Amino acid sequence: MITHGLFIDGSWGPSASRRTFGVENPATGQTIAQVADGDEADALRAIEVAGARQRDWARTAPRERGEILRRAYEIIVDRATELAALITAEMGKPLAEAYSEVMYGAEFFRWFAEEAVRISGDHMLSGDGRTRILVTKGPVGPCVLVTPWNFPLAMGARKIGPAVAAGCTMVFKPAEQTPLTSLALVGILAEAGLPAGVLNLVTTTDPGSVVGPWMRSGIARKISFTGSTEVGKVLLTQAAENVMRSSMELGGNAPFLVCADADLDRAVEGAIVAKMRNMGEACTAANRLLVHRSVAERFSAELGRRMSALKVADGATPGAEVGPLIDQAGLGKVERLVDDAVRRGASVVVGGSRLDGPGYFYAPTVLADVPSDAALMSTEIFGPVAPVIPFDDEEEAVRLANDTEWGLVGYVFTRDIDRAFRLGDALEVGMVGMNTGLVSNPAAPFGGVKQSGLGREGGRVGIEEYLECKYLAIPCS
Ligand code: NAD
Repeated sequence: MITHGLFIDGSWGPSASRRTFGVENPATGQTIAQVADGDEADALRAIEVAGARQRDWARTAPRERGEILRRAYEIIVDRATELAALITAEMGKPLAEAYSEVMYGAEFFRWFAEEAVRISGDHMLSGDGRTRILVTKGPVGPCVLVTPWNFPLAMGARKIGPAVAAGCTMVFKPAEQTPLTSLALVGILAEAGLPAGVLNLVTTTDPGSVVGPWMRSGIARKISFTGSTEVGKVLLTQAAENVMRSSMELGGNAPFLVCADADLDRAVEGAIVAKMRNMGEACTAANRLLVHRSVAERFSAELGRRMSALKVADGATPGAEVGPLIDQAGLGKVERLVDDAVRRGASVVVGGSRLDGPGYFYAPTVLADVPSDAALMSTEIFGPVAPVIPFDDEEEAVRLANDTEWGLVGYVFTRDIDRAFRLGDALEVGMVGMNTGLVSNPAAPFGGVKQSGLGREGGRVGIEEYLECKYLAIPCS
């Protein structure tokens, strides 16, 4: 049993209060580890260390920072099987998906290892020819990193990678449901040579008592948060007090458009990926499947056939394709949303109920003819439920798709290239999957518009979130 969850100034240790909390396996309901339950005293120690180390860390050679990340990438790949098992044990996703997450997460370290040595500035002559304008880029400063439970390794790596590459120190608080993967990740970075105090981890059951002091400290210069829009707004308000740089990867309500001319087999395949990855517990999950009326029945029936054939089991079981939801609260939310939709007139094509425990299992579900007033139309479902909504023309499809305060990702299935670009342009989102149900890629800028967030993670712009520019005015003599 692991009993430490604090890693401050290069050392593992208990919390100041000596309290711990249990980590549960959502497939069995069993406690698999005890982790330190940090509070304000631990948080303050961590942020002071991060502040004290910032200057020296910023001066390290970019190549040195890049090589630490490259070594971390290699260690993760070497231990991929073991890390996948850890993710499955604390989060529930099937082992094959956990393995994919490990490889996806590792890739952020490889990508940013390469970006560390490509940080560049700018140089130009002012319009009147009298001043040389030199623009340099440096680390923004100590960063607060807060991550969710649904991709415990990848969400950490997507923040730590660019922060290390840019030369920022960090205080890191993972989700209380899944701290073990973050403990492993932080251990790997230390093993890869990250100097003591650059990355400090505090686990806790009381996020406000740890993140709050970091936000108020005046030491942290940036917050990078992935999680719900609700908590993101709280952190943005706190960030305003100290005018901190803010990156927010928040919730989604992804529309998944299937046009009359779409390759239906491909669209069903895409829907399985976009809906069922992570049991539907993904910000990118297709939340509303908008299907042209002429193909809606065929699409729903085929999707139902595929969904009901998926093997639902403890993610550690060989061949498992759908694991449990994260906890009782997550399961209860899905039950309530489906019951509400059915009460308002939706019909159940397959599934529609929870499965016997232990564990928080819900049957893969397809709902047809979902009315627009059903709560799940405007709520992130975060479960294996695919609501199909028919539309009559492109204009209606776009109106329905954009009728949400979120704007993370949208999916478009059509064989007509003009329509694909037209719809891609019309969707109010940060990312569009064209005839694909998967957009996540470390080489691409991940992020949303509207209330889905601020900033981008990954891609060539990813490192910019951790850099500040400085302009030097040099008079021409
Ligand atoms: P959450 O907002 O409840 O928690 C996220 C993190 O915030 C956790 O570490 C939690 O402990 C912490 N937190 C909670 N209250 C806090 C407070 N008052 N102060 C500081 N920290 C606090 O979200 P969740 O349930 O862990 O994750 C699911 C959500 O994350 C969904 O909305 C999902 O769409 C979103 N998400 C977004 C992305 C993206 O890239 N856009 C990726 C994954 C998940």
